[in-house]
Amino acid sequence: MEKELAGKVALVTGAGRGIGRAIACELAKQGAVVIVNYNGSRERALETVAEIESFGGQAEAIGCDVSDFNACGKMVEDIVGKYTHVDILVNNAGVTRDNLILRMAEEDYDRVLDTNLKGAFNTIRHLSRYFLKQKGGKIINISSVSGVLGNAGQANYSASKAGLIGLTKSVARELASRGICVNAVAPGFIDTDMTQALPEKSREAAVAAIPMGRMGSAEDVAQIVAFLAGKRSDYITGQVICVDGGMT
Ligand code: NAP
Repeated sequence: MEKELAGKVALVTGAGRGIGRAIACELAKQGAVVIVNYNGSRERALETVAEIESFGGQAEAIGCDVSDFNACGKMVEDIVGKYTHVDILVNNAGVTRDNLILRMAEEDYDRVLDTNLKGAFNTIRHLSRYFLKQKGGKIINISSVSGVLGNAGQANYSASKAGLIGLTKSVARELASRGICVNAVAPGFIDTDMTQALPEKSREAAVAAIPMGRMGSAEDVAQIVAFLAGKRSDYITGQVICVDGGMT
């Protein structure tokens, strides 16, 4: 049987590690050619490519800081120039710079908004004209339960992730008539470098707030992204799907 994403080209931002790597691997398992974007972690991105190639998939690593509008434009031109089309865009790249609002530095606010929210705008802005021309495509933005519920100590991050939901819903309305689906996935507390960096006490408190009593895995998130990237979700757009063990 043909794989669901055979013949598709997918760009996954921040795919060298964590949730992005799991998404890249899952899309490749479903048959997509995956462009593994990275910013600082070139070696890890090459590991993602090697992992995909180890099970017979096809992937390529491309470095680009998603917060840089012109660099994103060049990345998109390079991909379209080489593969002629892009069918799936997963905006996964994200950073945290946590602090209480009274202590939050302006540069930490800007860095988080520039990467998490403007980064998604940048890739969507450059890729949507190709999606419109080909009258189809899937855009999946990785938001967070912090963007749905808010979270003390994460005003910048929550604002970026809530903004991503607004971006998702608006672009979904703009592109729906051309068969382009735009959805957001909001993970809860997922076991990656991002959450490993938290103090043990904060991790325990976060796990205690999860009805299922455990952290999620990057693969838990990748499964729903693969569903939203494929044909089975063709009539779903403008949605936010929480993958959070019941947190929200
Ligand atoms: P992670 O392990 O810290 O990985 C972050 C990824 O983002 C890395 O691959 C990193 O690439 C990339 N990135 C950061 N800045 C970038 C930039 N300017 N340009 C391109 N790539 C950039 O985090 P994660 O847990 O896998 O998180 C992935 C996404 O899920 C993020 O959007 C995060 O906000 C979201 N999320 C995570 C959780 C969680 O509990 N872990 C919960 C909800 C939502 P380089 O290393 O190459 O710089």
